[in-house]
Amino acid sequence: AGNAMEADITIIGAGPGGYVAAIKAAQMGAKVVLVEKDKLGGTCLNRGCIPTKALVRSAEIYNYLKEADDFGCHAENISLNMKKVIKRKDKIVSRLVKGIEFLMRKNGVKVIQGSGQIKDPETVYVKKDNGDVVINTSNIIIATGSVPAHLPIEGADLPGVINSAEALELEELPEKMVIVGGGVIGMEFAFIFNSFGVDVTVVEYLDDILASNDSDICSEITSIAENRNIKIFTGSRVEKINETEDGKYIVSFTQNDKNKFVTGDKVLMAVGRKPFFEGIGVEELGLELNEKGRGIKVNDKMQTSIPNIYAIGDVTSKILLAHAASHQGIVAVKNIMGEECKMDYGAIPGAVFTDPEIATVGYNEKTATEAGIEYNVGVFPFKANGKVLTLGENKGFIKILTEKDTDKVIGCSMIGPHSTDLIAEVTLAVKNGLRAEDIAETIHAHPTTAEVIHEAALSAYEKPLHTF
Ligand code: FAD
Repeated sequence: AGNAMEADITIIGAGPGGYVAAIKAAQMGAKVVLVEKDKLGGTCLNRGCIPTKALVRSAEIYNYLKEADDFGCHAENISLNMKKVIKRKDKIVSRLVKGIEFLMRKNGVKVIQGSGQIKDPETVYVKKDNGDVVINTSNIIIATGSVPAHLPIEGADLPGVINSAEALELEELPEKMVIVGGGVIGMEFAFIFNSFGVDVTVVEYLDDILASNDSDICSEITSIAENRNIKIFTGSRVEKINETEDGKYIVSFTQNDKNKFVTGDKVLMAVGRKPFFEGIGVEELGLELNEKGRGIKVNDKMQTSIPNIYAIGDVTSKILLAHAASHQGIVAVKNIMGEECKMDYGAIPGAVFTDPEIATVGYNEKTATEAGIEYNVGVFPFKANGKVLTLGENKGFIKILTEKDTDKVIGCSMIGPHSTDLIAEVTLAVKNGLRAEDIAETIHAHPTTAEVIHEAALSAYEKPLHTF
């Protein structure tokens, strides 16, 4: 027996792309159906952004306790209860999932639990145990996200080789962990597990960890990580993983043509994510894909090669970030509802929750040079800021890039306390073509870490105040 319904917009996938698009569409007056096979909130909420940050916070608190003496506080017999750490994380996640359920009800979005499949550009099927649902729909948004990528090497399927989702459930910590991949996900976990007392080694294929960043950020985070005893091998190609008789894992790799290996009790594969669109009917519909089949191809209105089918978020393989997915969702919905608009990729902030945090927006020195842009640089260290010292921090810097002729802010890279919050100000500047002088003329509260932005902006065209 089938169940039929009508919709203006059917959205497949309820991650930060899909569920935000659903709210926006409902607010604009559309009849919306949201199809999700798993939990509302997608990767981001259930096994990505939020759970990792819950662990980051536990790691931070644990570190504070270890350093309590420095602050004149005394803490004894400090220990970690991983079961509680995981439980706290789960509680935050389920509270937020309920929050999205509430938002869907409040906005009149019809949520259907099940796997969505596009039969034709105006029909979506949802497979359910108690009979399929057929949705007749004027528009479709594909928001099916991404899944962890796999390294096609021997041993990748061994039981102790885990992905990021499994790493979030470790109630028993390994003594030693090898992380394959020093990108954002790998490095966030490296700092988390290092703080929890695990002996962490990172093996990265590229010549730097977090390689898409400004070189100064790469070297700063590398030296901070190494000072904390996170061992890092860059320019290293992992060849295979073997299990020993006593249940340990040997990760073999080549670095500078030399064969090397490291051992661990667990191996975390953090080698990237791949867009997920299996079984939704992409091939049958003949939807165009990006080069090498990486993701569903879209134009800047988020429209696929079939005009009433849109795609947003990780599945488009443009930028794998939650806030980018949400914004793409809003762009798609506006276009569907007749309000023409284009996705602007020029000012999307990136946030990395290492310790200290890293945040970026727009150009860095590498990408500006590649693009042939003449720029000025303003840099200011966090250690010259009063608030930072009261926090017990002293590392990192903010680097602002401006266009040479116009003084317009074109990018920023920062590493230091609260960077992931501070980047919002510079994002506003980049997005709106503000000049470094506009930032410097803006009064920043004292004492705050935001004063470092003020000083970096001043340095970009004049002279910082608190300098020697
Ligand atoms: P997803 O969140 O992947 O959601 C897709 C949804 O579609 C899923 O719920 C899936 O079940 C559903 N689905 C798939 N196929 C079907 C189908 N046929 N029918 C019905 N439902 C279907 N980004 C940040 O911006 N900040 C961070 O700090 C951050 N940290 C991260 C940490 C980790 C460990 C990971 C893995 C990712 C992190 N990300 C972070 C990336 C972020 O999670 C993704 O960019 C974001 O979730 C993409 O959103 P999306 O809506 O495109 O897809």
